[in-house]
Amino acid sequence: MRVGIPQALLFWTYAPLWFTLLKDLGVEPFVSRATTRATLDAGVKLAVEEACLPVKVFFGHCAELAASAEAVFVPRLVSVEPRAYICPKFMGLPDMAGRALGRQVPLLTPLVDLRRGAGGLSAAAAEVAGALGIRRRRAEQALACGLAVQRAVEARWGRGCLPPVALAELGLLPAAGGGDRGPVPGAARRRGRLGVLGHPYNVYDRQVSLDLLARLLAAGWSVETAETIPADECEAGARELPKELFWTMGRRVYGAAAYLMSSGAVEGLIYLASFGCGPDSLVGELVARLAERRGVPFLLLTLDEHTGEAGVWTRVEAFLDLIERREARAPRPG
Ligand code: SF4
Repeated sequence: MRVGIPQALLFWTYAPLWFTLLKDLGVEPFVSRATTRATLDAGVKLAVEEACLPVKVFFGHCAELAASAEAVFVPRLVSVEPRAYICPKFMGLPDMAGRALGRQVPLLTPLVDLRRGAGGLSAAAAEVAGALGIRRRRAEQALACGLAVQRAVEARWGRGCLPPVALAELGLLPAAGGGDRGPVPGAARRRGRLGVLGHPYNVYDRQVSLDLLARLLAAGWSVETAETIPADECEAGARELPKELFWTMGRRVYGAAAYLMSSGAVEGLIYLASFGCGPDSLVGELVARLAERRGVPFLLLTLDEHTGEAGVWTRVEAFLDLIERREARAPRPG
């Protein structure tokens, strides 16, 4: 059985686990193609207008998979760690996708709810196995393999490998071509280091981000993202907030920003937000205030389906010029 995994939303975070789990259960998982303008247009037609850009992109990928998959993997994610939540859109995703696609293709929709511990993952794996008509006994073994691959990939991210590079190494994406987070060979000149933060599906999807990472690397900049910062440093950074953030991804992004600013690892921060996203409007504002207090140059780019590449890159170039002029004026030690 061919099960399609949309290359969207939390694919960028959990693809190693999902892919390995499905493969070990004996089905044939495959990933939809990289997002294009056509993917986005298809998603816009299927989604309600108020949906955020990443959800529209997700629907575009589901539409592509409906034509070639025997089932599409759309987990119902409530929580991915104890005592924390993620955006409610992830909970409603199977319902929204089901309504958008009608009866074109069956959806595989395991419930992932880890609020009370890792038992939620075993239940999700058993649900996948049950839905595929596979003996549930095999689910634990497949889950263990999936988790081992996921942890190995996350460890690689924490050592500075950008997720698209690590996913390409696993064969889940075409070869990324280019280095990890440093400037690509042949870049015009070596420049400074930037933090590029936001939800992983905004930062790593080349269509959604208007190829920001690749363009920065090609221009000679090094980049850090929330995923390339070790998880314990992000946690420590997030604890600086007077009140705990209960959104898993928002906490990671804020913690990464706090770490990058306090360690002086970057000369500036770019935050990629989705228009109409509640979590982004809060976390983006918190990061902007922190950057102002610490005197770190900060650029917020809000993305939707109408965002144009030329306008965004003009703003980014102006921001990069500002950083370089600021660095040139800074007193040199000694
Ligand atoms: S967190 Fe924001 S961008 Fe992500 S799915 Fe929710 S509303 Fe959309």
